[in-house]
Amino acid sequence: MALRLPCAVATLARALAERTPEVYLVGGAVRDLALGREPRDFDLASDLPPEAVADLARRHGWTAVTVGERFGTVAVLLPGATVEVTTFRTEGRYEDARRPAEVRYVADVRADLARRDFTINAMALRYPDGLWVDPYRGRADLRRRLVRTVGEPGRRFAEDGLRLLRAVRLAAELGFRLEEQTALALAVHAERLHEIAAERVAPEIERLLLAPGSGAASGLALLFHSGLASVVLPELVPMIGLPPDGEYHRVPLLEHTLEVVALSPPRPAVRWAALFHDAGKPYVRELDPVGRAHFFGHDALGAEIVRLAARRLKLPAPLADRVARLVRRHMFAFDMGPRGMRRLLAELGPDGLEDLLDLKLADMVGTGGAHVASAYDAFLAFRARLRDELARTTALRVPDLAVDGHDVMRILGTPPGPAVGAALAALLERVLENPELNDRERLLSILRTEGKGLVGRGPASPHGAPPGGG
Ligand code: ATP
Ligand code: MG
Repeated sequence: MALRLPCAVATLARALAERTPEVYLVGGAVRDLALGREPRDFDLASDLPPEAVADLARRHGWTAVTVGERFGTVAVLLPGATVEVTTFRTEGRYEDARRPAEVRYVADVRADLARRDFTINAMALRYPDGLWVDPYRGRADLRRRLVRTVGEPGRRFAEDGLRLLRAVRLAAELGFRLEEQTALALAVHAERLHEIAAERVAPEIERLLLAPGSGAASGLALLFHSGLASVVLPELVPMIGLPPDGEYHRVPLLEHTLEVVALSPPRPAVRWAALFHDAGKPYVRELDPVGRAHFFGHDALGAEIVRLAARRLKLPAPLADRVARLVRRHMFAFDMGPRGMRRLLAELGPDGLEDLLDLKLADMVGTGGAHVASAYDAFLAFRARLRDELARTTALRVPDLAVDGHDVMRILGTPPGPAVGAALAALLERVLENPELNDRERLLSILRTEGKGLVGRGPASPHGAPPGGG
């Protein structure tokens, strides 16, 4: 059956096919088409050398970018899609668990498929006739819903440690199991992941966290039980084996955490926060005289743990910040007054607020037990009050104030510098206490009467963060 491709991809495939009969769709798109899923992207492969592919693309008026010369991948920027074209290649011996010592271009697609990680990723569909090339029986594994390495799993994991994580992530995303030899090798070779750069590891963890259905929870469980978590999420390892605390949680901490991940909406900040929300608990656990567990300060410690882990994983700073705030605030009480709410809003911003509510709800439901129903009522009432407060609020950040830095400099007679920011932060602090103060005349009058004394009094403000930091 003829291979049907999106228009832009087909245009490129046709252009390549004018030069060689060896043009194939490869990688994840073949797998996804066979599963009836929408492919994320389309990768083509052929026996044309990278220079020939780039040349051909440019002659059609498309931009071609070489993605790492030695790997022979050319990205072609077509209108509406970017398609990567690789040249069939084999990979020689691996010097370490990251990079092959040598790469050789070859004429046969089968040799190219041999270097690929899993059987379900090592299939090719020829353009234009749709001929299947499936030397590792990937289609049979798709039917059995199995992730299995191409060739001996121990050797393949030793070649490239990232494959350990890719196996878990792929199984989680597809709702597949690991074939048993592959699963066994996972535990044995977990250490190989140490050699992989954070920039490659973190996106895999995030994709695992965002896996649909029960995938995220089962994938994370596998990550912990196989020992991979010790390498990529060492901060969380003390959660393993922590018993239920008796009062609120009926399940062990790790199980609770995975439930909260699964119950939270699949957005990166919320899912990362769900994963870390109780990470402080094992470190602060104390038993009282009647044997009940207490976890004083686990939220603040959890936020610190997020920051450490985020630095290690090189997560983008705004994401890390957002996640840390969520973890820091996840224990908030529903009887908070309007002032407390405005502080919460100022700290999290409107988006962060929705994240926090989603995290809280998942945490409550994931806690289970008899009190969930009554807590849910309290949650709904709190959410309604908080959204009202948000609608009424006049300023959450310095840019929302009715005065700006020029006013401060003029009235206080200060030059540009940190003092201006501090004065604005102090004014915001006042407005959070009393939103009615956010009126130009009233703020100018505070500046005139209190002058430089405005700064340096009252509590240290967390709101001096640059605009957009909330
Ligand atoms: P998706 O695009 O949905 O993430 P994918 O399978 O296309 O899935 P890519 O990361 O785009 O994943 O990789 C494309 C193909 O390259 C894979 O299907 C696989 O055949 C091969 N591949 C990717 N990473 C590796 C690796 N570390 N080792 C061996 N082969 C790999
Ligand atoms: Mg892909």
